[in-house]
Amino acid sequence: SAEEQRFADLHPRSAALAARARGPLLAGVPMPWMTRWPGGFPVFVDAAAGARLTDVDGNEYVDLCLGDTGAMTGHALPQVTAAIAQRAQAGLTTMLPSPDAVWVGEELARRFGLPTWQLAMSATDANRFVLRFARHLTGRPRIAVMDWCYHGTVDETLAVLDGDSVVARPGALGPQVPVAETTAVVPFNDLDALDRRLAVGDVACLLMEPALTNIGIVLPDRGYLEGVREVTRRHGVLLVNDETHTLCAGPGGATAAWGLEPDLLVVGKPIGGGVPCAAYGMSAEVADRLSGPMLGHEIDVAGVGGTLTGSALALAAVRATLSTCLREEDFAVAVPLAERFTSGVAGVIAEHGLDWHVQRLGCRAEYWFCPPPRDGAAAAAAVDEDLEGFLHLWCLNRGVLLTPFHNMALLSPHHTEADVDRHTGAFAGAIAALLA
Ligand code: PLP
Repeated sequence: SAEEQRFADLHPRSAALAARARGPLLAGVPMPWMTRWPGGFPVFVDAAAGARLTDVDGNEYVDLCLGDTGAMTGHALPQVTAAIAQRAQAGLTTMLPSPDAVWVGEELARRFGLPTWQLAMSATDANRFVLRFARHLTGRPRIAVMDWCYHGTVDETLAVLDGDSVVARPGALGPQVPVAETTAVVPFNDLDALDRRLAVGDVACLLMEPALTNIGIVLPDRGYLEGVREVTRRHGVLLVNDETHTLCAGPGGATAAWGLEPDLLVVGKPIGGGVPCAAYGMSAEVADRLSGPMLGHEIDVAGVGGTLTGSALALAAVRATLSTCLREEDFAVAVPLAERFTSGVAGVIAEHGLDWHVQRLGCRAEYWFCPPPRDGAAAAAAVDEDLEGFLHLWCLNRGVLLTPFHNMALLSPHHTEADVDRHTGAFAGAIAALLA
């Protein structure tokens, strides 16, 4: 297509690197998600700073992807890179705590309202540990998740509903773990279905995002999350909020923004300012039941933690990030930019009389080619990969990066109103071209 040709013309160096990379790297990339970018090959990045990214061909982009939330703060912020550099010179990892550990624990407790914390390497890692703890504490084998959730590459969570049956996610690498035996799956925004399923009595914990963010943004109905809390408590099921993406709702994620009361909470990608790191918090009751047996060596900790987990590097990065970014005052700048994004896109949609919609959660926005779905299955059915691919490539060719999954834009305090308007202009151009 003309857009593919334009992309190829703009990216000769990336094209050459991509061709070479197909030799040593699986599918030509260091990580499979990078095959999801439009244009036939990924842009190779030279440098990223603030809300800008420059590729090896010298093209500059407004970065609305921000590492799929891994760089929610913006890139290469001087105070974060200085802390990382300083720590690098003082030793990166010892398997003993650095003093930053205390600050980090206290700050996480203050933000998210759960008193006790552990570190992990990634949100995937944290989720695996949390599930293990929940099974240990309840003696129940099964976990529950929302239909079309994503919680990382945790085997038991890669499951969806097919009618009443639990099956592996379509296209998942197989053979799969027998998810019908490990996992209960319920539709988002359906309290009756949750109540019925948890009443069986075999579920250790419900792992959920307070709003689905991995199949577009699907917001909870009014009262739904309070209902989830009541139902899980009534059935003795631990409630885990995975705030890895929903941290975009505010400094304490949706949990603090909406006054939620999970038993455990996971937060990943953004908290290390780009350094691989995650953390999970727990209620006093959960911590009381684990802490003593751990200190007394009654629990064999094989299966939780890891050699590089909670390293001095990770703790320094989290401390720098949480003390200088992702604060109330940062969201106070980023959220109005996301509102500007939303109203710009909504204006274009209205101008063309399309039945499309745009959703927002804090500093993150996403548009739909249909009315906003209420659950994961409806959201999955609404995905139009061709249309998405066209829009993303069009924007990419005009210096605007959207996340390659869905139509997501993340706004940071380092974006400007002009950046937002640049996207709105590109979006308007793409729609005009589509309808021409
Ligand atoms: N949890 C949620 C809600 C996510 O969106 C993701 C990744 O997108 C993960 C966990 C896994 O994070 P990671 O890939 O950093 O392990």
